[in-house]
Amino acid sequence: MTRTTPPRPLELAEVFPELARMSRNVTRLHPRAGLPTVEDSSVGGPLLWPQDEPWPMCTRSHEVYEVVELEAVRAAHHLTVARWSRPEDEPPTPEEQSLLSRNKPKKTDSPHTDPVPLLPVAQLYARDVPGLPCPDGANLLQILWCPFMDHDDDVPAVHVRWRSADQVTAFLSPPPEPPVIEREDYWPAPCVLHPEQVTEYPAPEQLPAAVSARVDAWQEDTGHHYTEFAVAPGWKAGGWGVVSSDEDDAADPPRCGCGAVTAPLFTVGLSEWNEDDEGGWRPLEDADADDRRCYPPVGDPTGIELGDEELQIYYCPESYEHPPVTVRVYRLL
Ligand SMILES: [Zn+2]
Ligand SMILES: [Zn+2]
Repeated sequence: MTRTTPPRPLELAEVFPELARMSRNVTRLHPRAGLPTVEDSSVGGPLLWPQDEPWPMCTRSHEVYEVVELEAVRAAHHLTVARWSRPEDEPPTPEEQSLLSRNKPKKTDSPHTDPVPLLPVAQLYARDVPGLPCPDGANLLQILWCPFMDHDDDVPAVHVRWRSADQVTAFLSPPPEPPVIEREDYWPAPCVLHPEQVTEYPAPEQLPAAVSARVDAWQEDTGHHYTEFAVAPGWKAGGWGVVSSDEDDAADPPRCGCGAVTAPLFTVGLSEWNEDDEGGWRPLEDADADDRRCYPPVGDPTGIELGDEELQIYYCPESYEHPPVTVRVYRLL
């Protein structure tokens, strides 16, 4: 099924004509619970990884005090999905209860010094995401992260890999996995994607001062929130990037270590639409989402929770070899 963003409830470029030349395409990925394969674009799905290529590992020593077993996280997720399709008052069986109780944080010895296999977060085939930045000859973007948060600024250490899917003749299955992860909400639940291209405008901090002042006045007059209409919520590729964060210069895209200004690649989003959906981002196909009894919730299908922040991943336009830059972004409207 496709997912379709409704016609915009308010066309910002008509209110602020200067915005017309600042529009950018962004691909809303619309992750939804599913069973992706290596052939699919996915969040939390298996990666098409060559059998003879080493799986990326994090080798730093991590300060970590509590962990959960990855196998227990996954089993509890699938059990919860199954239980939601059964009658509400049916109690868990003793086996289910014991499985659910395994999925609890446990104290661990710190630091954690063993090399840690990274967790797959997403893979995007270029065929599904128009304009996806890719090196020459590549057509698949893969994103993984370290399951421990003990990295600079507590930003998940993200690893980005581009490859040509056609050159993978035998894929690695099963890939190495970390036996434990720091929190269950660092594990993305398997989702298939329904990419859709829409238009985004800059966040207020990124607007020229004159336009930004008029936006402020308009918000004051109308009670509308500009960002609600300008910036697509949820998991997405491309677009404008930073909304706001505690970085002083957060309005500008971050710089790569080489000095170049980076460009938005991928956003690990919060909910697929905001609670009151002022900006009208809830897809037409999900109009009845609140009435559907299902787990995970339609609007929060990945289970990823990074402290009410989005994680934005930027790439260096000078070289795909340069490591990605990540920024945690508040989305307070
Ligand atoms: Zn790490
Ligand atoms: Zn660079």
